[in-house]
Amino acid sequence: METNVIKGKPVADKITENLIDEVESLKNKGINPSLAIVRVGENPDDMSYERGAMNRCAKIGIDVKNIILKSDVSEEDYINAIEDLNNDKSINGILCLRPLPKHIDENRVKYAIDAEKDVDCFNPINSAKLFEGDTDGYAPCTPEAVMKILKHYNVELSGKRAVVLGRSLIVGKPVSMMLMAQNATVTVCHSKTENLADEAKKADVLIAAIGRAKMVDNSYVKEGATVIDVGINVDECGNLCGDVDTESVLGIANMVTPVPAGVGSVTTSVLAEHVIRACKKQNNI
Ligand code: NDP
Repeated sequence: METNVIKGKPVADKITENLIDEVESLKNKGINPSLAIVRVGENPDDMSYERGAMNRCAKIGIDVKNIILKSDVSEEDYINAIEDLNNDKSINGILCLRPLPKHIDENRVKYAIDAEKDVDCFNPINSAKLFEGDTDGYAPCTPEAVMKILKHYNVELSGKRAVVLGRSLIVGKPVSMMLMAQNATVTVCHSKTENLADEAKKADVLIAAIGRAKMVDNSYVKEGATVIDVGINVDECGNLCGDVDTESVLGIANMVTPVPAGVGSVTTSVLAEHVIRACKKQNNI
């Protein structure tokens, strides 16, 4: 079987194209959609995501305000910064880069962000909406990017067996809910799952989100499966790689997303889409 390596760019480009038109019509009404990005410290992963988000927003015409807090910022000052943004009418969306430093308790601060501006599902109100199937909320951008890729490449989900490797709140759990909402039969695996490769091999659609460089090789993949690689890792040579050993699954999978140039490239367009949705809602459009 010839494996189709499916890139994120065509998916991101299509979303971006639509958003450029939407922003133009908002600007004609005197409305400027805007996103605030809140970063604590100088974590290179945060800074790289921040750059990607800023580039995407610039392309679409969304204003970005960067809030950069010192790595030793107190929990109280962090909450105050979020509340200032909640109250700032010129800001439509707030992205809090995470994980936060250990001295800030995410379980406390996650309630501070206004759910209507929470474009990457930090506030549990938005997680609850996702779990309830209420599409009015904001799902986390990465799992939504996974779903956009599956849709773009016409991957059938209804009645199919999906296996999700990873159960984090930001990827594994939400993507499982989204797959279930599309009528897939979903199995969620994690670090305590026995016979992981055997479980994975039952999947028609396999989502790898474990953060283990190239761990998912041909022994995890059923002939003809679609494999979505969410992982962002660094391999033994210092190169960026996913959770999937792409070379190893070629000829077995029907489709596989690459890393880089896969899921990650769609995530920021989903973020931009959320900002515009928030902006329209806040302006009663
Ligand atoms: P977490 O570390 O929060 O969660 C990892 C999950 O994988 C956990 O549920 C863990 O199990 C499970 N796991 C870890 N090791 C194994 C193993 N050996 N076998 C089976 N399960 C395992 O990571 P995230 O969910 O935040 O991220 C996952 C990956 O996705 C990372 O590489 C991250 O960089 C990437 N990522 C990519 C994004 C993108 O836009 N492309 C955005 C966000 C993340 P347990 O619960 O038992 O500990």
